[in-house]
Amino acid sequence: MERTTAWNLYNKTELRKLEAVSKEYRAFLDAGKTERECVTGAIARAKEAGYRDLKEIIKSNGKLKAGDRVYADCMGKAIMLFIVGKQPMEQGFNIIGAHIDSPRMDLKQNPLYEDSGLAYLDTHYYGGIKKYQWVTIPLALHGVVAKKDGTLVNIVIGEDENDPVVGISDLLIHLSADQMQKKASVAIEGEELNVIIGGMPLKDEEKEPVKANMLKILKEKYDIEEEDFLSAEIEVVPAGKCREMGLDRSMIIGYGHDDRVCAFAQIKAMLDVKTTPDSTCCCILADKEEIGSVGATGMHAKYFENTVAELMNLLGDYSELKLRRALTNAHMLSCDVSAGFDPNFAGVFEKKNSAFLGNGVCFNKYTGARGKSGSNDANAEYMAKLRKLMDDAKVRYQTAELGKVDAGGGGTIAYICAEYGMEVIDSGVAVLSMHAPWEIISKADLYEAFKAYRAFLLNAK
Ligand code: MN
Ligand code: MN
Repeated sequence: MERTTAWNLYNKTELRKLEAVSKEYRAFLDAGKTERECVTGAIARAKEAGYRDLKEIIKSNGKLKAGDRVYADCMGKAIMLFIVGKQPMEQGFNIIGAHIDSPRMDLKQNPLYEDSGLAYLDTHYYGGIKKYQWVTIPLALHGVVAKKDGTLVNIVIGEDENDPVVGISDLLIHLSADQMQKKASVAIEGEELNVIIGGMPLKDEEKEPVKANMLKILKEKYDIEEEDFLSAEIEVVPAGKCREMGLDRSMIIGYGHDDRVCAFAQIKAMLDVKTTPDSTCCCILADKEEIGSVGATGMHAKYFENTVAELMNLLGDYSELKLRRALTNAHMLSCDVSAGFDPNFAGVFEKKNSAFLGNGVCFNKYTGARGKSGSNDANAEYMAKLRKLMDDAKVRYQTAELGKVDAGGGGTIAYICAEYGMEVIDSGVAVLSMHAPWEIISKADLYEAFKAYRAFLLNAK
């Protein structure tokens, strides 16, 4: 039952391929620090590979046939890619699904204020974070401002080497006697996540001159007014690029591996399917997983089901019953990251059922908390099929639980898709420091995830 490192499997050619994939991933991660940026990146790649916009095909009363490649974005924050297979969709199709939102801080609707000579942006954090990790590091602003005239202004501040960054201060250790006695959960509180963005007053301005200066800069650079924050989505994320980690460069430290590492492996696997597959291939990149898969762009929304209906309609093969059958007969990998075993915190893991960095793609039969509550718990028969599929494709995989029993827990989008009655299991990449500003993965696990997803798309049935 012991699983071992994937690194020993690779010859020089494989290592070269692994390096190429991880280099491509690093570029993807650096360019996609928000769900919107990830969708933009996915569309660019898809278009280059011959994918067409499903909405355009619907508008022009077009048709689809086997071999066609299409994408359908949902409000610019979630997206699906399809390769139409030879078999009728009614017989099922193969789905890989990940999420592209990551923990961060979002600007409040009325965020800008001045206090004691500094200008601040007030935030509301998004997803599960240890708040104390987000202070004293360089931060960047990414997002959009939607103006009343209908224009959408894209904002990225803090990524270019010549850009300034922003950041949140922490209390100096010298005066931290009280703070150091607090529980970690309240050492830094949500309302203390205020981002410093400036400290120079506008000359001859009497009332809040630093804030006035910020507004002047925003007006000049982006042509936006303070009121435009009311209709903006600006995310505060760690500034800077991901980096290779370790003297052997075997790992990558970066922001948002959860779950962009799986999202990337999925896109790469889809684009690697060059033939017409037997079963239709579907790649879902969902939003809002970190806050419960809610909202119009989260997995609980109907866009997935609606888009499959549209696709079947364009194939001339739609009925309500056929759609139900397609969804029920589908096979899915819910591709999300898993907790990597961390020797520094061995006490929260159970070693036999932990994912180790470098041991390959990780299957989680179930997630959940307190007695598997909220988990999907995949079928044994399905896991058996996948074992064969992975072995046949020479994919190195491991199985794990998210920590030891009753240590905590977590969820993914698996249980939502399971509602259709489809076979679905979690499979992804093991991560150290999950949900921290900088998370760590092994390049080998990324590579095996890509191989696993490709093999799944072509062979699951
Ligand atoms: Mn995740
Ligand atoms: Mn997460």
